[in-house]
Amino acid sequence: MFETEQAINLIRESNRIFALSGAGISTEAGIPDFRGPGGLWEDSTLMEKLSATGFNRDPEGFYRANVKLFSEVRKAKPTLAHQLLVRLEELGKLDAVATQNIDGLHRAAGSRKIFELHGTYHTGHCPKCRAAFEMEDFYAEIQSGRLKVPLCRACAIPIKPDVVLFEDPIPVDAWEGAVDAASQCDLMLVFGSSLVVYPAAELPMIAISSGAPIVIVNLEETAYDSLARVVVRGKLGEFAKSALAAFD
Ligand code: NAD
Repeated sequence: MFETEQAINLIRESNRIFALSGAGISTEAGIPDFRGPGGLWEDSTLMEKLSATGFNRDPEGFYRANVKLFSEVRKAKPTLAHQLLVRLEELGKLDAVATQNIDGLHRAAGSRKIFELHGTYHTGHCPKCRAAFEMEDFYAEIQSGRLKVPLCRACAIPIKPDVVLFEDPIPVDAWEGAVDAASQCDLMLVFGSSLVVYPAAELPMIAISSGAPIVIVNLEETAYDSLARVVVRGKLGEFAKSALAAFD
């Protein structure tokens, strides 16, 4: 595919790459995205289920509603596209990855510099005393029906996963790191994002304003296609296979 070759050539010429990933990088790992076919957005109550208000109003309902997503996240393994970003970082070509995903797959793949803009499901905290928790065992217990909602032992209130829910602010450190990386990069890769969720969708504009070209790899059209140097309309797995072969 001509666009794949063009994208690989741009990667070859670049040494300060910044990547932004969205839910589409993890669909081939079995985690549904929001807006693609069969995506989570087909559930019209999702916004309420994944909002801070929804969690505060009914934490038990929040965990019950999300247990399917948790189980998909717990089973998932990194994809070829996650591995490609690790390879580019090992080669000294990629500075950082910012992700909108909460699945922890960039970390599992071995990426080192990661900005998790929407947090992670893997850890949680007590909203009152801020005690930190590993969430894996809680999810297993919720799935098996032994637990309804994990509670902080000291405060006896529901533990909240470290995900950015609708209405929650984005973690400041992750956002500032991503903005710096976008403004300093010589190429920005956007993998598997519809680019409609803000502020993450501002990052390609920051890169373009700083003079960097952008490459978008996505199954569907995005709002930034007309501003991208190269758009690869296809599966990330296929793109990553070609790119990994080029940077073996
Ligand atoms: P999105 O669902 O809005 O867009 C995903 C895009 O990826 C779609 O345009 C789709 O066409 C494309 N896509 C799907 N599979 C692909 C593939 N194999 N190859 C190439 N493209 C593919 O996702 P978003 O832009 O990340 O924003 C939605 C929000 O969803 C984020 O806030 C994120 O926190 C949350 N989310 C995360 C996960 C996860 O952690 N894996 C899963 C679902 C939703």
